Amino acid sequence: MILKLEHIYKDYIQGKMTVPVLKDVCLNVEKGEYVAIMGPSGSGKSTLMNIVGCLDRPTSGSYELSGRDIQSLNEKQLAEVRLHSIGFVFQNFQLLPRMTALDNVALPLVYSGVRKKTRREQAKAALTRVGLEDRVMFKPTQLSGGQKQRVAIARAMVNRPDILLADEPTGALDSKSSKQVMELFQKLNDEGVTVIMITHDSGIAHHAKRIVTIFDGELSEQEGTVSE
Ligand code: ADP
Ligand code: MG
Repeated sequence: MILKLEHIYKDYIQGKMTVPVLKDVCLNVEKGEYVAIMGPSGSGKSTLMNIVGCLDRPTSGSYELSGRDIQSLNEKQLAEVRLHSIGFVFQNFQLLPRMTALDNVALPLVYSGVRKKTRREQAKAALTRVGLEDRVMFKPTQLSGGQKQRVAIARAMVNRPDILLADEPTGALDSKSSKQVMELFQKLNDEGVTVIMITHDSGIAHHAKRIVTIFDGELSEQEGTVSE
């Protein structure tokens, strides 16, 4: 089991009110799975993503990632987990505008202390893996939305994370670019990457092999969901 969420609750405190957002969320994901978490706006998807991504802590419940008890880690250890175990992909790409595609992709390797020559080689290989070997020296403004998202996916993969975690990865893309991103996720999953994709779009969710739905902070799943 690569990911194990047990009885996760998340409350936000607003003034004197406690707003329950995640309610008894349980989820197990095996290595190599491709899971979509689907739900409408406001259902708690980003809150759940932040917990899975070790960007926020649950109010209660337990979370194990690759056999590590995430609850017991301090901030520095959580930053390590985010750097090495999780590849993040966001709706709005989150690329640094002044940097080339190569330097954007190499950034996690800088934080990992990889030397410059190796960084360039590995970043180039990651860009080749997403089909952008001819755009290495381009800056984000010189790339289409779909290309930007492929750069972001290369950056997410460059440290060889345990899971690829994507929040609305096609939310800002046209249908053609969305299709390319979905093909890329499929290819990475075929190569053994564990993919967890969050979306409000059922057409996008159906690219995953398994669909879990979230509604008003509660997770549910139909047995044996398959895309075919
Ligand atoms: P989704 O990503 O599915 O649209 P979110 O996880 O962003 O949903 O939000 C779920 C609910 O939690 C919403 O009702 C939202 O208003 C509330 N919420 C999210 N973040 C906060 C916060 N920092 N403080 C208070 N309420 C929040
Ligand atoms: Mg959201």
